[in-house]
Amino acid sequence: MSADPDCLFCKIVAGDVPADVVHTSERTVAFRDINPQAPLHVLVVPRHHEPNAAATASADPLDLAEIAITARAVAAAEGYDDYRLVFNTGAGAQQTVFHTHCHVIAGRDLTWPPG
Ligand code: 5GP
Ligand code: ZN
Repeated sequence: MSADPDCLFCKIVAGDVPADVVHTSERTVAFRDINPQAPLHVLVVPRHHEPNAAATASADPLDLAEIAITARAVAAAEGYDDYRLVFNTGAGAQQTVFHTHCHVIAGRDLTWPPG
């Protein structure tokens, strides 16, 4: 579906819910996470609603490609060459908003494995 009227991130994409938007492109919107886990913590979302990254890749692979390119641009704009991208998928992996989103995290030591 293109937009879900009950979806928080669709409302941010539409401008109906305010967000600190740092980057937009034809296919994506990037905004700061409301509960940042690092000095840089931005969410990159496709404008087109799908519930997770695999669904976005199936629906339109170019959306997923543009998410990755946008993420690099967001990190670079704030001076970070090194960053982490996370797509939580499913409640068991701590996904809480079921509109595809890529966490772009940088600016502190990023240990591995993640929690
Ligand atoms: P998830 O847990 O689904 O991978 O990530 C959802 C993210 O959305 C969380 O990091 C959470 O802090 C963020 N978030 C939830 N509600 C809002 C909101 O209204 N505005 C913004 N900017 N981020 C939000
Ligand atoms: Zn949505």
